[in-house]
Amino acid sequence: MNQRASNLPPRAQRFEPYQVERLRQAFPILAQRIYGKPLVYLDSAATSQKPQAVIEAMSRFFLEENANVHRGVHYLSLRATEAYEQARIKVQRFLNAGHAEEIVFVRGTTEAVNLVAQTYGKTHVRAGDEVLISAMEHHSNIVPWQMLCEQTGARLRVAPIDDAGELLLDELERLIGPKTRLLAVTHVSNVLGTVNPIRRIVELAHARGAAVLVDGAQAAPHLKLDVRALGCDFYALSGHKMYGPTGIGALYGRRELLEAMPPYQGGGDMILSVSFDETLYAKPPQRFEAGTPNMVGAIGLGAAVDFLAGLDAGALAAHEQAVLAYAQQALAALPGLRLIGTAADKVGVLSFVLDGVHPHDIGTILDREGIAIRTGHHCAQPLMQRYGLAATARASLGCYSSEQDIDALLAGLVKVREVFR
Ligand code: PLP
Repeated sequence: MNQRASNLPPRAQRFEPYQVERLRQAFPILAQRIYGKPLVYLDSAATSQKPQAVIEAMSRFFLEENANVHRGVHYLSLRATEAYEQARIKVQRFLNAGHAEEIVFVRGTTEAVNLVAQTYGKTHVRAGDEVLISAMEHHSNIVPWQMLCEQTGARLRVAPIDDAGELLLDELERLIGPKTRLLAVTHVSNVLGTVNPIRRIVELAHARGAAVLVDGAQAAPHLKLDVRALGCDFYALSGHKMYGPTGIGALYGRRELLEAMPPYQGGGDMILSVSFDETLYAKPPQRFEAGTPNMVGAIGLGAAVDFLAGLDAGALAAHEQAVLAYAQQALAALPGLRLIGTAADKVGVLSFVLDGVHPHDIGTILDREGIAIRTGHHCAQPLMQRYGLAATARASLGCYSSEQDIDALLAGLVKVREVFR
């Protein structure tokens, strides 16, 4: 066996049929006790926990492969470059993109949206044009468009939602006019859990000549993705929400769009040649990856994609939906509790408010029980305003979440009720 082959990472571990207890063992952090109580991690929408396979792939990179990519002629640099580009191919397959060159490594969803706003946006959006978003966007799919509109004199428009947290498609359609250059919408809401009908939205936008960017930060850990079936022009995701590391994410862009876009940042690795008179830029994706990239992050993201591929997607979805249904039923039965986000198509994100109790107090009391949830505005202040709220408590599920986690949450909430009786 040659040395190269013996150093290849092991085949992705498979978890079939879906056994949540076995799967939890793949996440070392979950075995911890917090304040002497078993950790109940219900904050996966903020960031997911990492399986051993991701941790090992990243430490293996530092132990055996670390060197700068795309630069050296020496063995380690070639090996690191191969690992980095393999990770790109893994992300391409995960998204079912047609070409590896359509995958740009970025810091995460936030950077992906900013990249598109400042490149595609700057070259396609002019004074008087419109950019359309929805009322359920995360700040990272609002502020970059506001900045673009300020810079260009374009107008930001917002498609409304109903009380259940579903997009009003008729209203959205009405808002896509001849001036709409771009529609930026989340695939899954981080507050409501709503899954938006992206394919239909893309059809509506494309029929009127508007490009579509999809924020996939919350979809990637839950849904089987296929950018070609969705038909979108851009798709953004964050590694850390999908069992990978922080500081790495991916932007998918249709090849012809990326090829026509100017660079985002200037520096090393994004050029063909530089002189003081003229610089020629590299083709995508390198054109958009200035400077030394987050190599180990990309390796970790590739391992996370392998991890997800090792799960039976149908069984994972069925498990998450079963835990979600169990949680919704249990929470709705608690006196004074109101669920925010009751769309028919949703994933395991449960936002709620409890009469007479501030969400931060809920979070603090649950924390002492070893239960981690998120409280606050969830970087979606306009959405909070839509519901007349300053904050909610949010429990969010991952592939490792179980009905026992929900039982613990419920017991914790009963304690909260007793404190604030
Ligand atoms: N979009 C959504 C729907 C999110 O939930 C988040 C993070 O919570 C983001 C975008 C931003 O992701 P990141 O902070 O990884 O760039």
